[in-house]
Amino acid sequence: MMGYDTRLFSGENDSHMVALAQKEDRVILTRDTQIMKRRVVTSGQVAAILIEGDDPERQIRQVITTLNLDPQSRAFTLCLECNHPLVARSKDEVAELVPPYVFRTQNQYMACPSCHRIYWRGTHWQAMTEKLKAFMKGPTEN
Ligand SMILES: [Zn+2]
Repeated sequence: MMGYDTRLFSGENDSHMVALAQKEDRVILTRDTQIMKRRVVTSGQVAAILIEGDDPERQIRQVITTLNLDPQSRAFTLCLECNHPLVARSKDEVAELVPPYVFRTQNQYMACPSCHRIYWRGTHWQAMTEKLKAFMKGPTEN
């Protein structure tokens, strides 16, 4: 959502993940304390953040704060499905690809050249944008 190049590993070989993070200059976000004890991590060759707690919003806040990320400036520039950079598409280009209601009400579209998914600024986008704005302001009092 925030437009940062991300790669998900789930239950794969940890050594492979760490090696790939090093090769691709990625920051590992993990709940696994064993990853944090690896030599490449303790020596600073691979950056890693031990994610705290179970609340996803607090977790995102931790990542934003620790890495000093900007949640808004590059928001929605990458495909949410496959991480590929999105490109702008004209209304004419997507006429046959989006539902009629969307075509009538939306003028700006983005497309993923890799998986061909089409994005527009509908209600889901608005909800996500509000969420990102909230992350800019810091923790909310509940
Ligand atoms: Zn895609």
